[in-house]
Amino acid sequence: MTMPASILIIEDEPAIADTLIYTLKSEGYLPQHCTLGRAGLEALRGGGHALAILDVGLPDMSGFDVCREARTFTDIPIIFLTARADEIDRIVGLELGADDYVTKPFSPREVVARVRTRLRRAAPVAATSAPVSDSVFEIDAESGRIRFHGSLLDLTRYEYLLLKTLLERPGRIYSREELMDRVWSDALETSDRTVDTHIKTLRSKLKVIHEEKDRIVTHRGMGYSIDAGKT
Ligand code: CA
Repeated sequence: MTMPASILIIEDEPAIADTLIYTLKSEGYLPQHCTLGRAGLEALRGGGHALAILDVGLPDMSGFDVCREARTFTDIPIIFLTARADEIDRIVGLELGADDYVTKPFSPREVVARVRTRLRRAAPVAATSAPVSDSVFEIDAESGRIRFHGSLLDLTRYEYLLLKTLLERPGRIYSREELMDRVWSDALETSDRTVDTHIKTLRSKLKVIHEEKDRIVTHRGMGYSIDAGKT
């Protein structure tokens, strides 16, 4: 017997919350509900939730701020509920650490399908994140996350793909063109500075976690490689 997964819903509109609670229950999940961002964060701090569904427009603080704060202490999947197209841009573009979003009005079935997908991806984390490796990086391809010196990196999708590509073969030099092909193959807009700007933000994110030698090596006129070894 497995325990039903506990899902935290942070949403102030009663009709939406009720629909979600009803649907999640009928699908065998254990929903818990908060109407305010602060209460939601408190509940998340208490632990035990497998996933959070988070409304962007909350009365006391924005869902973006809730997500940003939650990411300082938890890496459970977070799915945003949003009513506006410009909010989607922020969810996708900003480094919030959100895993997915659903636009209002939505069908409860759609939300449950997203929940199921995210939980499936997140499930193997506990089994695979045991640090049995000589690398300072740990990739969890299932959940799309990378740890550096044991700390979870808060990466955008492209930063994740970029770092993952470099880590596939530490020491190998990847040219900008190769990285563009492998990481930005589905991107609508890129520029010749795309790789360089993402390398720059990656470097600063690594530095925040561990102040040490630069793990990303620039090879002038050739490209980039990564030094993933311990020491
Ligand atoms: Ca709302």
